[in-house]
Amino acid sequence: MPHRGLLEKYGSLLDLPAHTQTVTLLEGNTPLIPAPHLAREMGGGFELLIKFEGLNPTGSFKDRGMTAAVSEALGRGAATVICASTGNTAASAAAYAARAGLKSIVLIPQGKVAAGKLAGALAYGAQVIQVDGSFDDALSLVVQISEKHPICLVNSINPYRIEGQKTAAFEICDALGTAPDWLCLPVGNAGNITSYWAGFTQYDLLKATGLPHLLGVQAAGAAPLVLGHPVEKPETVATAIRIGRPARGEQALQAAEESRGRIVAATDEQILDMQKTLARLEGIWVEPASAAGLAGLAAELNRGRLEVRAKRVVAVCTGHGLKDPEIVTRALTAPQIVPPKLEALEEAILR
Ligand SMILES: *Cc1c(COP(=O)(O)O)cnc(C)c1O
Repeated sequence: MPHRGLLEKYGSLLDLPAHTQTVTLLEGNTPLIPAPHLAREMGGGFELLIKFEGLNPTGSFKDRGMTAAVSEALGRGAATVICASTGNTAASAAAYAARAGLKSIVLIPQGKVAAGKLAGALAYGAQVIQVDGSFDDALSLVVQISEKHPICLVNSINPYRIEGQKTAAFEICDALGTAPDWLCLPVGNAGNITSYWAGFTQYDLLKATGLPHLLGVQAAGAAPLVLGHPVEKPETVATAIRIGRPARGEQALQAAEESRGRIVAATDEQILDMQKTLARLEGIWVEPASAAGLAGLAAELNRGRLEVRAKRVVAVCTGHGLKDPEIVTRALTAPQIVPPKLEALEEAILR
C-alpha cells in the first residue's frame, strides 16, 4: 500500500481529538540505514542503524509532530499557528500551515538560526520575527501570546506534537520486528525523547516489542539535564539543541531512567567530528545537532561506559545536512580552480 502519511497509517494509535482534520505532506516512512563502516570505526561487534529523519518533507523529524498539531488546529477552527524555533520547527510549522491554508508566525532567536532553516520558513510564507534573546525567551513569549489571543501554539508543549512524534518509534519496531537494544538521539527541548519513550512503551504493551535503553545526548554547552540546572546562555554549533531550559526536561530524565539508559553530553568538537565521519564513511550528511546522538554513543563506548557487543543500536539522525551548509563550507578554502583544459584537469586529479 502506498504511504499516505502518518495520521492515515498510525492515527488509531495517537490520542487526537475527533475534530482533527488531516493535513499531510506524506511525512514519516523514513529509512533505517545500516551503518557498518561507522560501527567498525566505533570498535565494531554490534549492529548500527541510522533512522534518517532528514528525509522528511521539510528536512527534519519535526514534520511528524506538525502533521498532528496542525491537523488538530485546523479541525478546531484555528486561523493562525505560532511557534518559537531554533529553525526546524519554524520550517515545518510554516509548511503545514501553508498546506492547511493557515497563517503562521515564527519567533527565532536573533542571528542563531541556520540559513537553510530560515529560508524554509520564509519560502513557506511564514511571518518570521527575530527575538533579541535566546530560544527560551522566544518560547516564553509565544506561550504568553497564545494564552492571551486565539493563536494556536505548535511548539512541543502542544500535546499533539508528542503524539505525532511517537510514530518514529512505531516505524522502528515495525521495521525490526522488535525494539532495538539501544536508541541514541540528540536532546534539545526534550520533546522527541519524550515521544520516543511514549511510543516504545505503547507498542510494547500492544505488541510485546520490548523496550530500548535510551541514550539522550545534549551539547556540552547546552546540557541542563546533565548539569542538573538550567543554562542561562547555552552555546553550541548544534543550533537545533541550543536550549538551556528544556520544556520537557523532567519527562526526558524520567524516560532515560525508566529505560535504564541515560542523558550525557558531547562537545562541539565531538559533534562536528561525528558529522564529518558519518558523511564520509556512510554517505549520510546530517546537520550538527543530528550527529549528537552518535557522538554521545561514540564517547560512551570510548570511555567503556556502554556495552553493545552483539547488540542492535538505532541512532536517530534528526535533520538533513543541507539545513546548515555553512557549517561545512565556512571551514573550507574554496575548491581548487582550473582552466577549461583536459591537461589542467588531469594535473589536478592525477598529480
Ligand atoms: C528539534 C531538533 C532536535 C531536538 O529535539 P527536541 O525534541 O527539542 O529534544 C534535534 N535535532 C534537530 C535537527 C531538531 O530539529
